[in-house]
Amino acid sequence: MAAKIIDGKQIAADMRAELKDEVAKLKEQNIVPGLGVILVGEDPASQSYVTAKERACEDIGIYSEDNRLPAETSQKELIDLVNRMNEDPKINGILVQLPLPKHLDESEVLLAISPEKDVDGFHPMNIGKMVAGEKAFLPCTPHGIIKLLQRSGVTIEGAEVVIVGRSNIVGKPIANMLIQKSPTGNATVTVCHTRTKDLAAHTRRADIVIAAAGRPNTITADMVKDGVVIIDVGVNRVEDATKKRGYRLTGDVDFEAVKEKASLITPVPGGVGPMTITMLLYNTVESAKAAAGI
Ligand code: NAP
Repeated sequence: MAAKIIDGKQIAADMRAELKDEVAKLKEQNIVPGLGVILVGEDPASQSYVTAKERACEDIGIYSEDNRLPAETSQKELIDLVNRMNEDPKINGILVQLPLPKHLDESEVLLAISPEKDVDGFHPMNIGKMVAGEKAFLPCTPHGIIKLLQRSGVTIEGAEVVIVGRSNIVGKPIANMLIQKSPTGNATVTVCHTRTKDLAAHTRRADIVIAAAGRPNTITADMVKDGVVIIDVGVNRVEDATKKRGYRLTGDVDFEAVKEKASLITPVPGGVGPMTITMLLYNTVESAKAAAGI
């Protein structure tokens, strides 16, 4: 039985349409959510991510403030800008595009962002609250995965979930969200990594596999059981002479073979990816509502 595709593009579009309506209603009360974006340097990938985030804001009516700083910006200049945005009532969310140039101290910059405006969910205060199961800004990619599962009708409660990868931005936070005593948690979670002795022994018993290894074909058909739900977070470039740019994007899962066994599967691209920016917009709207006491 071939799997049903989890259409991340459609789910993200639905959520953005809902957010657009919500932003329009907030505007009737003179509340305009605002996102302050900071990009240091000229990394082309970062530039395109930032542009995509700003366009997404514009599409749903969020005000965005673009701050593109030269690569040689000092730590003090950057922190001063973050502090200015912390004080600016037009700004409800602050996004510092990572990675920063090597001479800048990333953790100090993230720590400088007010936890009330930390819409990326990377501030230690929000990480701590998330772990404790308190209300917090949740990091966008793992939060997007929860929404994909929910909106695809997947039962998380009681599910055996195996996560491949333990990074701070995907593996660790998604594991934390799924073990919470909450309607979107209550799963039994195993986190695997490069020191895991027998990866397949874990993935084979999973009801849900979340692959976030950053390596093509990490999950093959022999490694999963029939009916598994697959969330493929990986975004990998593989050489492809048939493509004009010389490569194509692929996930961590052998999609063609695994989809024959899975009940639901996310494609790459078009699965998890579109949800990440959507959750940034969602957090910015939530922040504006909290600032207005709604
Ligand atoms: P990362 O920091 O490189 O972490 C990769 C994790 O996978 C590490 O914990 C590593 O284990 C583990 N791993 C790697 N190869 C493995 C293997 N063969 N078996 C078991 N575990 C293995 O990566 P990340 O930042 O979490 O990102 C993961 C992937 O998701 C990347 O492809 C990235 O581009 C993609 N991503 C996509 C989005 C999106 O919005 N779509 C967002 C974020 C990331 P060790 O800890 O032992 O090294």
